[in-house]
Amino acid sequence: MAEVTELSPDRSARMRIAVVSMHTSPTAPLGQSANGGLNVYVREVCTAFSDMGIATDIFTRIQSPDDPAEESLAPLSRVIYLPAGRDLDKYDLYRETPQFAQRISEWAAAAGASYDLIYSHYWLSGEVACLLRPELAPSWAHIAHTLGLVKNRRLATGAQPEPALRIAVEGELAHQADLLIASTADESRELVGAYGADPARVFVVAPGVDLTTFRPVGRSEARRKIGVGDGPLLLFVGRLERLKGVDIAIRALAELREAGRPDLRLLVLGEDSHDGNESEKDRLKQVAHAFGVRGSVDFVGSVAHHELPYFYSAADCCVMPSYSESFGLVGLEAQACGCPVVGSGVSGIRSVVRDEVTGFLIDADNPSVYAQRIGLLLDDPELARQMGLRGRLLAQRFSWNRTADRLAEMFSSVVDTHDRVQIGMRHE
Ligand code: UDP
Repeated sequence: MAEVTELSPDRSARMRIAVVSMHTSPTAPLGQSANGGLNVYVREVCTAFSDMGIATDIFTRIQSPDDPAEESLAPLSRVIYLPAGRDLDKYDLYRETPQFAQRISEWAAAAGASYDLIYSHYWLSGEVACLLRPELAPSWAHIAHTLGLVKNRRLATGAQPEPALRIAVEGELAHQADLLIASTADESRELVGAYGADPARVFVVAPGVDLTTFRPVGRSEARRKIGVGDGPLLLFVGRLERLKGVDIAIRALAELREAGRPDLRLLVLGEDSHDGNESEKDRLKQVAHAFGVRGSVDFVGSVAHHELPYFYSAADCCVMPSYSESFGLVGLEAQACGCPVVGSGVSGIRSVVRDEVTGFLIDADNPSVYAQRIGLLLDDPELARQMGLRGRLLAQRFSWNRTADRLAEMFSSVVDTHDRVQIGMRHE
C-alpha cells in the first residue's frame, strides 16, 4: 500500500485535478534526457492553476533515490513520486503503465483524495489515465505534446521512426478522452484528420511563456554574465536529439565562417536526450569536426531555465532547425528576450515565429538557406533589432496565466456537463 504523505489536500479548492506525468517530472532538470517542454508546461500550468484556486496533484515516477515522496510546487500543487519502472526508455515504460495506474489509485485511496478531472500528458500518461478514469475522476482531458504520426512524416536521416504501438495508443486516446487539448490549430487538425478524433472534443490552447523571467537583458551585461566576447553569436537551446536538427545549424555556421565571418560562434545548450543508442552530442561534435568548425561550437550542457534570458539576450539569433516541433517554446522564450529566430517552418515554430517579421522560417533542411538568412541578420543589426522588438511584442500575447485560464474554462465545462448528467440520472 502506498504511504500517505504529510501535505494535506485543500478541500476548499474550486476544482481538483489529478495530473498524470508518468514520463517525466515537472521538477526534473531541463534540457536533458526526456526533460523539456512537457516539464515546463506541467510546472507552469499547475503553478498558474494554484493562483486561480485550482488544486493539482501531479503524479510522476520516482527516477532517483533522492526523489522525495512528495514535494510542494505551489500552495495548491504538489508532486507525488511513485515507484514504477526506473531507467527504462519510453517504449519499455509502456509495460509499466498498469502498475503506475495501480500506484496512483492506491495512493488516492489511502490519502482520501478525490478529483473532478484527470489531466494526462503524453501518450504514456494517457494510457494510465485511460486505466484510472473509471475510478479516479468523472472526467478526463488529455494533451499529446507530440504525435507519433506527425513526427514520422518528417524524420531526420538516421532517426528512429515512432513505433506502431505508440500510434495505436494515441489513436485510442483520441477516441476515449472527454477533451483533447492541442497546442496549435495544426495539431487539432491532425487529431481529427489523422487519428479520427471527434472535432467537438478537440480544443486549441496555446502554451505560454513566463514574461517576468524571459525579458531582454542589456547585451553587454548578458555577454559578460555568460562569459562571451563581442563577436557574432548563434544560439541553439534544447534536448540534443536528431529531430532538433542541430547539425544543420553547425553546417550553416561552417558556411558563414567560410564566407568571411571567421569569428562567428555557436553555443549549443542542452544535453543528450538519450532517444537513440548513439550520443547525439558525440555525433554533433563529429559533424563540427568534419566541417572544420569544432573550435567554434561550444557545447555548454544544460542550463537552468532562469539563466536562459542571458543567453537569448546575448545571441544575435536563435537557431531552431527542427524536423518537427509541436510548439516552439524555445522560439517564444527567445522572442520574449528580443532575440530573432531562424527556424524551420514546421507548424509548432510557425505558431510562434512570424516569417520576415520576428525572424525567418525555412521550409527545407538546407544549411545554405539557414546561412543566407542568418547572414541577413548579422549584416544588418538594425533589421535584427527590429525583429527582436517585434518578437518581444508578439511574445506578450502568450502567458501561462492565459493558458491556465483557458484550460480551466474547458475543464469546468466538461466537469459541469458530467454533473448535469449525474443529476439527470438521479432524477430519472
Ligand atoms: N531548456 C532549459 N535548459 C536547457 C535546454 C532547454 O531550460 O539547457 C528548456 C527550454 O528553455 C524550453 C524547454 O527546455 O523551455 C524545451 O522545450 P521545447 O518545447 O523547445 O522542446 P522539447 O523538449 O519539448 O522538444
